[in-house]
Amino acid sequence: MNKSANYYFTIVVPVYNEEDNIYALEKSLQAFLPKSLYPACVLFVNDGSKDNSEKLIKEVCERNSDFFYLSLKRNGGLSAAMKAGIDAACSPYVGYMDADLQTTPEDFNLLLPHLKDYEIVMGIRANRKDSFVKNLSSKIANGFRRFMTKDGVADTGCPLKVIRTDYAKRIPFFTGMHRFLPALILLQNGRIKQVPVRHFPRVAGQSKYHLWNRLVSPFMDCFAYRWMKKRYINYEVGENNLNE
Ligand code: UDP
Ligand code: MG
Repeated sequence: MNKSANYYFTIVVPVYNEEDNIYALEKSLQAFLPKSLYPACVLFVNDGSKDNSEKLIKEVCERNSDFFYLSLKRNGGLSAAMKAGIDAACSPYVGYMDADLQTTPEDFNLLLPHLKDYEIVMGIRANRKDSFVKNLSSKIANGFRRFMTKDGVADTGCPLKVIRTDYAKRIPFFTGMHRFLPALILLQNGRIKQVPVRHFPRVAGQSKYHLWNRLVSPFMDCFAYRWMKKRYINYEVGENNLNE
């Protein structure tokens, strides 16, 4: 158990070279925490940043008692950062948002009320503020993934999600899994809820994903998902004398 066990909800924020976003993140998360429907803490996962992000994160965690961080020894990509955050979270619910503030933490309050009836609640980026190429490639990728996984999800990449932590911890993790979170929750017969959330342009720092890594690997991962779906192990424990 770690300090996140004292909260209901841990907001995991993966960070890779986002030095120009850290103070703005601090401000918006500071404003949100007192308003959060569930008592929440922030967990920055510094994914081996090579800029000043780690120093700034430490500074922010010093002056905010509900802010925590962990640093990965080397860069592992968004899926690895998310896994590290989910592995560390000891609260009943775990959330995720990106460090670039293209979504706002305020909209977690649109997602949280549904957790009573769903195992994952995720945003759909309404009026997406990305480039034409990014929007188009995302549309194509979403369409193909939906066809292959039958997850019925409109916008799997939306960087605003909340998941029941016990379900999140059972997700089969692999590089690229961050695009399949709802489909992977479905494997456990979890229920998915999608809610429109606001979307903003990236105002500072740079996008790390481009056309190639947005289309090719996810395309192959769809086949891996189909395989996994056939082979996934679901079991329910009946009587036992471990938990008296
Ligand atoms: N990120 C990460 N490790 C990486 C690449 C990205 O933790 O190797 C983080 C990044 O800092 C951001 C999120 O993942 O918080 C999404 O990245 P980005 O905004 O660059 O992706 P895009 O929204 O353009 O697809
Ligand atoms: Mg982004």
